[in-house]
Amino acid sequence: MNLLCCCCGNMAPNTRITRKWELFAGRNKFYCDGLLMSAPHTGVFYLTCILITGTSALFFAFDCPFLATRINPIIPIVGAVLYFFTMSSLLRTTFTDPGVIPRASHDEAAYIEKQIEVPNSLNSPTYRPPPRTKEVLVKGQTVKLKYCFTCKIFRPPRASHCSLCDNCVDRFDHHCPWVGNCVGKRNYRFFYLFLVSLAFLAVFIFSCSVTHLVLLMKAEQEIFEVIKKAPFTVIVVFICFFSIWSVIGLAGFHTYLTTSDQTTNEDLKGSFSSKGGQRSINPYSRGNICLNCCHILCGPMTPSLIDRRGIATDDYILQMQQHSSPRHPLSDVMSASHVGSSGMVTAQPVIAGVSTGINVGGNDIKNRLYEEETPIALRIW
Ligand SMILES: [Zn+2]
Ligand SMILES: [Zn+2]
Repeated sequence: MNLLCCCCGNMAPNTRITRKWELFAGRNKFYCDGLLMSAPHTGVFYLTCILITGTSALFFAFDCPFLATRINPIIPIVGAVLYFFTMSSLLRTTFTDPGVIPRASHDEAAYIEKQIEVPNSLNSPTYRPPPRTKEVLVKGQTVKLKYCFTCKIFRPPRASHCSLCDNCVDRFDHHCPWVGNCVGKRNYRFFYLFLVSLAFLAVFIFSCSVTHLVLLMKAEQEIFEVIKKAPFTVIVVFICFFSIWSVIGLAGFHTYLTTSDQTTNEDLKGSFSSKGGQRSINPYSRGNICLNCCHILCGPMTPSLIDRRGIATDDYILQMQQHSSPRHPLSDVMSASHVGSSGMVTAQPVIAGVSTGINVGGNDIKNRLYEEETPIALRIW
């Protein structure tokens, strides 16, 4: 890209390098010149940071000096280690690419559209819309691949489109506003470690603060005197008491998912539960709790598929401009149905009861009823 020089009128080379993250088609936010990325809305993530840091700070300031002298000087050290482990896992979950699958290029999308289009049958009264699914075998089990109208790709097994980030994510677990990112193939291990370390931190702070209050009670004999003497300890006990159950519950739930190699999305959809008396086997499980845990938590980290710090060439910029051209009318219908009401996020795009004219592969289809999948609501956590 060249610019006209303001002094001499000659063409001057544009020295500014455009990185691919600047032209990214999804809604993700990028930081540090594309090194870090997160979901578009991170307000709740900052609330998570404030809650964890604020409660820990009150504990370190008002409980630790007392407990270190009266019980054991190692208490503040254990608390600090748990706090830093929790926060580093949280930050890694928030700012790591969860496994975003790049959208198809213009040529790739045209090729796929051509493959799935069914010509010459539009005027037939028995016309059915072209199938938007493919079937593949995973360990001898048939797995359906769904076509994503936004990314213009057949999603790989276990991938799903996040309506908030507007991307397909590999091994999509769920979109978590508390960590400010999607949880997927590349950041699930950090998310799991965050939950487990947060559960340990909450239990540790809660038990230490209760011990502090009990020792004060022994000395003062009067509960109001104790509250007057240690009001911040009482606040810490309250915060921990109300958060500890959901944190332990979530850590337990994700331990179950990790040991059985399932995602939240698959568990809520009942992908591997018995259907019609037929037992459905999870083809992704390694058949053993230890192997599943090792694979998910210690297996090699797959590289990011989006070259976000790569230099955007002229060809790439042209390609992205084609992407930003008016989208497929059908994809707009789908986008509208991605997000449910009252903070619920649907895991899969849904087109149900669309009875007006819509365009598939350049052909008008009137009065058709589409139903791709029953909406599955994912609770946000
Ligand atoms: Zn998609
Ligand atoms: Zn997301």
